[in-house]
Amino acid sequence: MKRMLPAAVATLALWGCGDSNHAIVNDSREVMDASQQSVIASRAMGLVASSDASEKFVTRTVFVDDTGAEHVRFDRTLGGLRVLGGDVVVHNRGAGLASDVTWASDVSLKGLSTKPVLDAAAATTYAEKAFVGKRSGPSSAELMVDARPDLKPAVSYEVVLEGVRPDGTPSELHVLVDARTGELRGSWEGVETTAAVGTGKSINSGTVSIGTNTISGGYEMRDVTRGNGFYTMNYATGLVFTDADNVWGNGATSDAASSGVDAHYGQQVTYDYYKNVHNRNGIDNAGNTGYSRVHYGTKYNNAFWQDSCFCMTYGDGDGTTFRPLTALDVAGHEMSHGVTSRTAGLVYSGESGGLNEATSDIFGSMVEFYANNANDPGDYLIGEVIYTPTKAGDALRYMYKPNTDGSSANCWSSTVGSLDVHYSSGVANHFFYLLAEGSAGNPVSPTCNGLAVAGIGRDAAAKIWYRALTVYMTSSTNYKAARTATLNAAKDLYGNPSTQYTAVGAAWTAVSVN
Ligand SMILES: [Zn+2]
Repeated sequence: MKRMLPAAVATLALWGCGDSNHAIVNDSREVMDASQQSVIASRAMGLVASSDASEKFVTRTVFVDDTGAEHVRFDRTLGGLRVLGGDVVVHNRGAGLASDVTWASDVSLKGLSTKPVLDAAAATTYAEKAFVGKRSGPSSAELMVDARPDLKPAVSYEVVLEGVRPDGTPSELHVLVDARTGELRGSWEGVETTAAVGTGKSINSGTVSIGTNTISGGYEMRDVTRGNGFYTMNYATGLVFTDADNVWGNGATSDAASSGVDAHYGQQVTYDYYKNVHNRNGIDNAGNTGYSRVHYGTKYNNAFWQDSCFCMTYGDGDGTTFRPLTALDVAGHEMSHGVTSRTAGLVYSGESGGLNEATSDIFGSMVEFYANNANDPGDYLIGEVIYTPTKAGDALRYMYKPNTDGSSANCWSSTVGSLDVHYSSGVANHFFYLLAEGSAGNPVSPTCNGLAVAGIGRDAAAKIWYRALTVYMTSSTNYKAARTATLNAAKDLYGNPSTQYTAVGAAWTAVSVN
C-alpha cells in the first residue's frame, strides 16, 4: 500500500511541543493511527529541539512500505522560505521497533539572516554567467535558503534560466546565487534524461520505434540508452526535435519530424548493428555515436559525415530525382565513415579512398539487412529508396555489378585509383558481394576472370571485412594490401586452410586483385 499526499501545507499545529513556533504542520493525520503518530511525533521533537524559532517542518508525503513501516517526509522552511537541503524523513518501523530520521542536511540554521541584499533581477544577472548556450524563454528567481550539506548556509536565489545548449539540447539551468553577495553557489540542469520509446512515422522506413527522452512538457528526439546517447536535430532551426505525445512525424515531408525519424532510426539501427554484431560500442568504440541533422540546405541531394563535429547531415533532395536522403543504408554508410576514421583511417583519395567508400557501402548494406525492415529490405543496392517514384529502380551504387551505374569499376586496373572514390569503390564492393553471396547469387555477379566464386554468407564476409578494417588496414592500404588484410582477418577468424580463407582469395582474384 502506498499513500501519497499532496505537498500542500495545512496550518494545523499537531503534536504541540510547547512552542507554537516549532509546530510540525501536518495534513495527514488520517493515515496514521495514534501510536504511529506518537512515535513520529517523538522523533519530530528531536528535529525541532535544535531548530531556529522561525523554522517549520511541513509534511510532504507519507509512504507506508510493504512491511507496514511509515516513512514521513518533511520539508523545512526558515522565515517562510523554502530550505534546500532541509528535507528529512522520519521512519516509524512499527510498534516496539526502532524509528529513526534521515536528514538531507543537519546543518544548523540558527541565527541565519533571511534578508536578501540583491533583488531578483540582480541575482538573475549573476546567474546568467553560468549559462552556456543561447538564452530564450522566461527566467524566474525564487528567494530561498541553501542549506545543502558541507556548505555554509546562506539566503539565496534559485534562478531558472531557459534556452538551448550549444549542441541544440533544450536547457533549463537552475543556478543558486547568494542573495547577499551574488556569489554562484551551484547549478544543475533541469532537463533530465528519462528514456522513453516513441513511435516514429518515417518517410523511408515506415512506422518504427525510436529511442526518445522525457523532458518537461513532452519528449525530445534523443536516445539515452545506446552508449553515451545521440540525438537528431533540425538543421533549419538548430534545435533537437521535440514532441508532446512521443508520436513523431506523419510519414511525409509535410511534417519536418518525419525525416528526423528516419535519421534517428538509422542511427539507432547502425549503433545496434555495430554493438550486437561486432561488439563495437558506438562509432568511436567509447560510447559516442555522434548526432544527426536533417533538412540541410535547400533541395540538397546528398548526405555527409564530418569527423570535426562527429555528426551526420542529410539533405531533403530536390524532389525530382531524390526524396529526403534519410535512408537506412545511407545512415549506415555515413556513420561507417566515422568508424573508418577511428580505425584504419583510410585516406580519402586514390585506392585507399575507394576502400574507404566501399567500407561505408558494405556496412551501410549490412545495416539495412540487420534492420530487417519490410519497408526497406536488405539488398546490395545503395540508396535505392531515396529516389523519387519516377526514378524507381535506380540506386547510387550496385554492389553485385558496380558498372551498372555507368561509372564504377567492376574490376581492378592500374588506373582505378584515379577514379572518384565513389567509383573506385566498385572493386571492393564487387569483391564483398562475391565473397558473401557468390557469383551465382541473386542477382548474379559476373567475375572479371570468368571463374565462379562460392559465397560464404553475409555474416562471415562482414566479420572478415570488419576485422581487416579495424586490425590490419592503415591509412595507405591499397587494393593489393586489402587482399592481404582480409586474408589475415579470415585466417584469424576461421583458420587457414578454411573455406572462408580460400573464398577471400578467390573473390579478390575474381575482381583482378592478385
Ligand atoms: Zn561515403
